[in-house]
Amino acid sequence: MFRRILIANRGEIAVRILRTCSELGIETVAVYSTADENALHVQLAAKAVCIGPPKAADSYLNQQAILSAALGSGCQAIHPGYGFLSENAEFADLCGKYGLVFIGPEGDIIRRMGNKAAARALMQEAGVPVVPGSEGTVANAEEAAAVAAAIGYPVLLKASAGGGGRGMRRVFEAGQMAASFAAAQAEAVSCFGNGEMYVEKLILQPRHIEFQILADSAGNVVHLGERDCSIQRKNQKLIEESPSRALTPQLRRQMGEDAVRAAKACSYRGAGTIEFVLDKEGHYYFIEMNTRIQVEHPVTEMLTGLDLIREQLRIAAGLPLAFGQEEVAFRGHAIEVRINAEDPAKDFRPTPGKTGFLHFPGGCGVRVDSALYPGSVLSPYYDSMVAKIIVQGQSRLQAIRRMRRALEELVVEGYPTVAELAHLILFHPNFLRGNYDTSFLEQHLDDLLQVSKGEEIKEKADD
Ligand code: ADP
Ligand code: ADP
Ligand code: MG
Repeated sequence: MFRRILIANRGEIAVRILRTCSELGIETVAVYSTADENALHVQLAAKAVCIGPPKAADSYLNQQAILSAALGSGCQAIHPGYGFLSENAEFADLCGKYGLVFIGPEGDIIRRMGNKAAARALMQEAGVPVVPGSEGTVANAEEAAAVAAAIGYPVLLKASAGGGGRGMRRVFEAGQMAASFAAAQAEAVSCFGNGEMYVEKLILQPRHIEFQILADSAGNVVHLGERDCSIQRKNQKLIEESPSRALTPQLRRQMGEDAVRAAKACSYRGAGTIEFVLDKEGHYYFIEMNTRIQVEHPVTEMLTGLDLIREQLRIAAGLPLAFGQEEVAFRGHAIEVRINAEDPAKDFRPTPGKTGFLHFPGGCGVRVDSALYPGSVLSPYYDSMVAKIIVQGQSRLQAIRRMRRALEELVVEGYPTVAELAHLILFHPNFLRGNYDTSFLEQHLDDLLQVSKGEEIKEKADD
């Protein structure tokens, strides 16, 4: 096992990685931008190295600075977390060149699966169902329109390098194609520095179902069940749960097998996630693979009792998986709510600020992953997610009730968050029935905001 590793990330995931390292007796080196001088991950690490100014491009994406920090501090490996350099094949290659272990798959695997258009082709070859769409990329709006005419509208324009719901546009008719293509491509260029686009059929009101997998260097692959991530805003997840109410045991078995098949098809190594959309008729389609640890990985940890960061470290150190598929056991039901510093009433605009009074929930079956502390300052340069609340219960209803009370205990003062909205969602009849899809928030947001406004007025009147 490694003696010392560098964590090339910030926020809750840097803290999350640090915690497992500490349990395993691995020393950690943190990196930080000048905006993060006082961040929690800097304070908890054995050593911290400043790698540049606030802008991510100059710090958390600064490959040379990060490699120098790792080499200069005697690290043997780099954990990239999620976002930033986690799916950067060039960086994974560079680590190898300098004799550092990149805790994730090899550069070539990232190249094969990180390009979403290329991954589709590979999955098709492997016999995993993909959404009908273009073969590879489309060069311009005319080519996209030709594909759309062939598969039928509506379609979804997507960036090959996309992530975090960016670089994506729905197109309902030929007349919208030129403008949508230009908008999606411009966003892709500005977010990912890559304007490559492809086309998929837009699946109407699907569920987002993903499977967590683990693969070791010996070629053993297991899946750790699914996560239903259909409660989304702007194609980004807000609430995740497992098991999904949408899956029958048969569908679960089939999708799990396909997820393992997908990982084997690209000779995968490490922790990864195979994402599918599931339509109303029970057909599922591969949409992408995330070749890294995911934000919502604690949902799976709560269900299985495994520590996925530990598994990542073991696999990167060349150790075989210590269990097979039959030994993976699932316990009850788990739910995660992402607490973003955003204003739901203003199109989820980020609301940076300084944290005032802070109180995190606790008690039976509750876990909080966060890098917040009273007085910590949210920088506008980075992601707006400030905490994740995860609960486990014996049944789905117990988990929902537990999450409601956890959110009732939560106090984050200093800026608006999505906590109240999430709390209201946990009372919505469609959510309670498990009868929801990725259009849930689009459909119900106005009503939910109306409810919260009504409560505010009532409170003021009571005062
Ligand atoms: P998950 O499935 O883990 O929720 P997301 O796609 O929401 O994955 O992304 C996780 C995090 O990584 C988010 O903070 C998002 O902003 C960031 N992210 C995702 N893709 C990219 C990318 N290509 N470049 C930079 N950041 C990204
Ligand atoms: P990202 O890399 O940004 O995470 P994904 O390809 O995973 O992009 O898609 C993000 C979300 O967009 C999905 O969770 C789903 O809600 C929606 N989506 C993606 N592809 C389709 C599709 N073909 N039809 C309908 N919705 C889709
Ligand atoms: Mg995705």
